[in-house]
Amino acid sequence: MRFIDPSIITEAIKDSVIKINYELDDSLISLIQKAKKKERSNIASSILDDIIENSEIAKEGNVPLCQDTGVVVVFAEVGFDVHIDGNIYDAINEGVRQGYSEGYLRKSMVNHPFERVNTKDNTPAMIHLSYVKGDKLTLKIASKGGGSENMSTVKMLTPAAGIDGVKKLVLDTVFQAGGKPCPPIIVGIGLGGNFEKSAIIAKESLLRPLGDKSDDPIIARLEDELYDEINKLGVGPMGVGGDTTCLAVKINYLPMHIASLPVAINIQCHSARHIEVIL
Ligand code: SF4
Repeated sequence: MRFIDPSIITEAIKDSVIKINYELDDSLISLIQKAKKKERSNIASSILDDIIENSEIAKEGNVPLCQDTGVVVVFAEVGFDVHIDGNIYDAINEGVRQGYSEGYLRKSMVNHPFERVNTKDNTPAMIHLSYVKGDKLTLKIASKGGGSENMSTVKMLTPAAGIDGVKKLVLDTVFQAGGKPCPPIIVGIGLGGNFEKSAIIAKESLLRPLGDKSDDPIIARLEDELYDEINKLGVGPMGVGGDTTCLAVKINYLPMHIASLPVAINIQCHSARHIEVIL
């Protein structure tokens, strides 16, 4: 049994939320540069340049990439042989509290659907725990902006809808979102499970490495086809039109009920801020 002090978790969360809000991952920058080479619209191309320049300014100046510094989402995979000497939820939220204060990040969380009083420290984080083999604690941490989250959806399709029905829903959702989720976007899709589980795996798909593919051949093909078809929609960077609407499509899936085909679409803006820490 390995013991982990909650203060180590707090420190990891604090450092991570600051880092991801100041620095875009190199793999994301590479995808934007690659997209720029194929982009035929001058204005779209200049916006991609602006996104790269913005990321350089943020990194050099230790300032946030965007005014919306997001809600913190944490997928914590706890090894069976790990014992945390305290409350993991409190440890994560304390890290958010310290990180958003010390990093001068905007506090975006409000307490109630209608009172809407700011909680003043960006807590609570959205925390998903699972148990895995081993003696490690893996923290997958994201800072998710509200603009792209608002354009996301969950729909219960019937099995007869099939691949064509899933594609239509994804393409309609991305097209209707237009420039609101600050394209170029990454589209995270959850297929199967049930109503709530599809949304969680859609979110989790956004935390996969940008360059990877599903290990299921049917799903991998669907990721590729949707990537091409979304980029033919013409939405373009920030909705100004162009060839670059999405940078990647990620699909996670689960078994499901015989009568259902749950589909969750979680849209991630170009400011895709996430990191994985293994303790
Ligand atoms: S959608 Fe993303 S880039 Fe746009 S304002 Fe929100 S966090 Fe910033």
